[in-house]
Amino acid sequence: MKLILKNCNVLNKETKDIYISDGKFSKEFPESEADRVIDVKGNLATPGLIDMHVHLREPGQEYKEDIESGTKAAARGGFTGVCCMPNTTPVVDNAAIVRSIIKRANELGYCRVYPIGSASKGLQGEELSEIGLMKEAGIVAVSDDGKPISTAGFMRKVLEYCADFDVPVLNHCEDKSLSGGAMNEGPVSTSIGIRGIPSASEDVMIARDIILAEYLNLPVHLCHVSTKGGMRMIMDAKARGVKVTCETCPHYFTLTDKECVNYSADYKMHPPLGTQEDVDAVIEAIEDGTVDMIVTDHAPHHQDEKVIEFSLALNGIVGLESSFALSYTYLVKTGRITLDRLMDLMCHNPSKLLKLGRGGMEIGDDADIAVFDIDNEFVFDKNKMLTKGRNTPFDGFKLYGETMLTVMGGNITYEKLC
Ligand SMILES: [Zn+2]
Repeated sequence: MKLILKNCNVLNKETKDIYISDGKFSKEFPESEADRVIDVKGNLATPGLIDMHVHLREPGQEYKEDIESGTKAAARGGFTGVCCMPNTTPVVDNAAIVRSIIKRANELGYCRVYPIGSASKGLQGEELSEIGLMKEAGIVAVSDDGKPISTAGFMRKVLEYCADFDVPVLNHCEDKSLSGGAMNEGPVSTSIGIRGIPSASEDVMIARDIILAEYLNLPVHLCHVSTKGGMRMIMDAKARGVKVTCETCPHYFTLTDKECVNYSADYKMHPPLGTQEDVDAVIEAIEDGTVDMIVTDHAPHHQDEKVIEFSLALNGIVGLESSFALSYTYLVKTGRITLDRLMDLMCHNPSKLLKLGRGGMEIGDDADIAVFDIDNEFVFDKNKMLTKGRNTPFDGFKLYGETMLTVMGGNITYEKLC
């Protein structure tokens, strides 16, 4: 397959034609040799995005999402690589499941899928999973995400064991003994009568993991950080040389707990939406380098699990199809960060941490590329999403950065413009 993408605005730096042959970026060749020539009309071309925190729900919860719908949604978001969390049914705690996920994703061909194995068998937090065997089968990290690794003693074991295998450990930061509520604890939760979760629930776990990482001199990665206190501790730890990295999600820099006043569970996730102070702190942490990655924590649920009483609804929102546009609109368009920094957050840094070797656009690199319209506003429409989930708080948002085209390994995986 030979493809020419004409008039690409490459990273807002130069306009040129991109040549793709046999799945790689290639030298110029005559148009007559191309199977397809697509004029992308000056739209922004970037390396394919990487999302290191996605719930694809397969195996076992295909009524919420499956590898096909999830990877199609990823391609529509401009992603060419996603890491899937192991809290499926059964749990991804052995090599056979890892292999089956990779095989299924490869057969479908919409997006590269890098499984994350569970740290503990069955996510029970007691016995280590088959981490070495899972690494041989293709995992890129371990996590018990959905749940925290709850005891410090077990976390130490996980960090030490994974260091031997050179496998990053990703922890979902929540102290369960504090987190019985359904939204952020504060004036809003009090006024609408919903039991709150204090930001201390997240902060206590962040503090513990930083203490362990510093004591053991081993790396730790903190998932979906949302609080002002958490960001401050991570910034301090990094300044001391502690090997800590962290991610945040678009909802933590665009929405506050005030959104919960309408009792819609499309604003219910874990950690919960914080206050304006938290949002401001997250944006500052993105600006100053404290945050290493923007991820979605894409968490599709069935309507029956979300369109119910707020306290009973499941946690999580979908994010693959809105992540780039929200990040571009709220961070780059506003002048808070540069496009290059956004590319670090959404491609190069996750690739580096997980050793994926992605993000190159030189001749000979795998042709993973996304094209976005950053000049024209569009209205985000939840009914056009390719994920099975409809649980997004961003329906009707006016955004910049609609995906026009995604190419993964030289194959077109999503196409809006023709
Ligand atoms: Zn989580």
